[in-house]
Amino acid sequence: MAPTAPDARKSGSWEDILDDEERALLAELLNRDPTTYPTVAVIYGRISSDPDQDAKGVARQVVKALLRIQTERTWRLGFAPFIDNDISATKGKQGKRRPHYERMMSVVREDAADVIVTYMMNRLWRNRIERASEMQVCTDHRIRIIATNGQDLDLSSSSGRVVAGLLGELDTYEVEVNSERSRDEAAQRAKLGLSPGGRCYGYDKGRKVNPAEAAVIKDLADKVLKEDWGIRTCARYLNTEGIKPAFAAKWSPGVVRQILTNAAIAGLRYHNEELIGKAAWEPIISTDTHVRLVARLCGNGQPPGWSPHHRYLLSGIATCGKCGAAVQAGRPGKTARSGRSYQCPTPSDGGCRGVSRVMVPVDALVENTAVTLLSTPGIIEQFIEADLPDAADVLSVAQRIEAAQARAAALGRAMAHDDPDNEVIRIMRRAQQEEITTELATLRRRQAALAHSTVFDGLLDVEDIAAHWQTLSLQRRRAIIRALVSVTIMPTGPGRRRFEPDAIVIKRREAL
Ligand SMILES: [Zn+2]
Repeated sequence: MAPTAPDARKSGSWEDILDDEERALLAELLNRDPTTYPTVAVIYGRISSDPDQDAKGVARQVVKALLRIQTERTWRLGFAPFIDNDISATKGKQGKRRPHYERMMSVVREDAADVIVTYMMNRLWRNRIERASEMQVCTDHRIRIIATNGQDLDLSSSSGRVVAGLLGELDTYEVEVNSERSRDEAAQRAKLGLSPGGRCYGYDKGRKVNPAEAAVIKDLADKVLKEDWGIRTCARYLNTEGIKPAFAAKWSPGVVRQILTNAAIAGLRYHNEELIGKAAWEPIISTDTHVRLVARLCGNGQPPGWSPHHRYLLSGIATCGKCGAAVQAGRPGKTARSGRSYQCPTPSDGGCRGVSRVMVPVDALVENTAVTLLSTPGIIEQFIEADLPDAADVLSVAQRIEAAQARAAALGRAMAHDDPDNEVIRIMRRAQQEEITTELATLRRRQAALAHSTVFDGLLDVEDIAAHWQTLSLQRRRAIIRALVSVTIMPTGPGRRRFEPDAIVIKRREAL
């Protein structure tokens, strides 16, 4: 659960700030006799946008309004003050509801009030559109508006309405100037690499590295980049290990992704989604690692063959020589001797069912080739040193993958309403589908290339690659093979029994 919502925390707190005398005044005004005091006043207040002044600010507004009502000979307070805990006038969600404001306006519509006492016009109406429509309601019901920190308005007169309009314009101007000022301040802080404020996993207050959380981040980064873990696997792992997240009770994949792709943990300062430069705080992971994590985790879902759930060396990695689909592990053959095989999936799973090959010799051939390649002097350096992508490139790939996925989802929704008999629409949709598919495939290839270079880390100083290979986990071996070579299983003639190495095409991938 999220921490206590601001509403619950602040609700009613302005009342606690009133002193005894002020509380007595509130009670007196509410209990005034209607025959002696026929004019009904209501108070409207809204918390200020300055978080330090919320309750105090509202209490001050209420007291000012009470004092004003007290000075009038015929006024009484008709209802308890209407106070909304809305955060800011112009920020936040558009059209955010203000329950107390609405209750007050229903009182106005029932002609049960004569005067609204508020602090400033911008407490009442948050923007020009709202002001225009609501002022009309007040005019229709001949409401007087008293701004304790401004001018009184009599909306039954046209001069009063003109002034109301002008005051409102000035209020809006002031709000805009204020937000410009805080925007400038934020930009200035960003330029200096200073913290934008707020808690960031991996760091304590003031962006001091939190050693325990930093260790979790490093551990996860390694597992994602070297063992193909996805965010789901990470979240499950953290929950079973009993590691606690910073805010929620449990880890969710979304939070894991957010933390691992956060530029702040690489000591990079962003402002308005733009990289400003090095931050003033200590990085937990290197910029390279950050870039690879973004490349690896962008888009929802992993590219095919990246799941750590694969239990066989080449499933999802090797492709069918007939149709290009990634092969899957098939059932063991009828004779125990042959064991499991790699198979092109059925047409319903995107394959052609055209090739099938017993696993064991294919695995051995590919692993031998990989070890030989890795033992070639200089080759690992080539892969590692192959020019590292710059952050902007990776981020743009990440954004484009997400955009393409969003377009695919939108297309799917639109197609649900299509007329199945309309040929033109069918052709058009197919073209749209193909375009997205092609773009996603290109982006995924780029993503893979960007993320691949990491898998060779740690192999550089190994003397005996062949012996070291045997110690690597299946997922690590899969990741290295995928980065190093492409494997295609070619069809063979009917009735062949013996394994034909020539029918397995292994090609070295180009270093980036
Ligand atoms: Zn196939």
